[in-house]
Amino acid sequence: DIPVITIDGPTASGKGTLADEVARALGYWVLDSGALYRATGLAASRAGVDLDDGAAVAAVAAGLDLHFEDGRAFLDEEDISDALRQEATGLMASRVAVHLPVRAALHQLQLDFRRLPGLVADGRDMGTAIFPAAPLKVFLSASAATRAERRYKQLISKGIPANIEDLRADLEARDARDKGRSASPLQAAPDAFTLDNSAQTIEESRDLVLAWWQERGPF
Ligand code: C5P
Repeated sequence: DIPVITIDGPTASGKGTLADEVARALGYWVLDSGALYRATGLAASRAGVDLDDGAAVAAVAAGLDLHFEDGRAFLDEEDISDALRQEATGLMASRVAVHLPVRAALHQLQLDFRRLPGLVADGRDMGTAIFPAAPLKVFLSASAATRAERRYKQLISKGIPANIEDLRADLEARDARDKGRSASPLQAAPDAFTLDNSAQTIEESRDLVLAWWQERGPF
């Protein structure tokens, strides 16, 4: 059995950074499941597919030629890493993610990320739908204000202009869609540990998750 740690939570809660740090400490692989929904949204929109047409978007998802290498993402051999990170792409992802056929089309692809010595998977439904038997599930929570501020600093530090009010409105719209949809809504698994990282450094959050992992192990 390949050990899996799941990290779920709302938009800009720091899931990706925490997943990377925990994986680095353990020498595990990472699944950034949001990237799959982002790539699907991007590919569908480029192909002129209506993002509200679940069956058509699912066909795009099933046919994705996507691969990851050295932290970069490639769609049909084109490096789409920067396009994937854009807010507009996040909004497309959240629109295509409401469709059950799209989620089904991406299911096996996500399971295929499991490799020894282990996997840290981040997203919205890693602990509830994709890896329900994972021995450690973490659910992140941080206030919308904190998350908007973090995202703002992240963008500004990269020289990307941003407006904190717009960012907060965008992430609240995405949260509402992620929680309100019928297909794998964003919610904590019953056996998840909730971690409010609003007032924590990334090192503190990482060490807490590693301590939980040690308690459950050895793996
Ligand atoms: O985590 P990230 O912001 O990259 O995810 C983009 C969007 O993809 C989310 O707002 C959510 O709607 C969707 N998503 C999802 N299930 C996942 C990961 C992402 O529905 N496991």
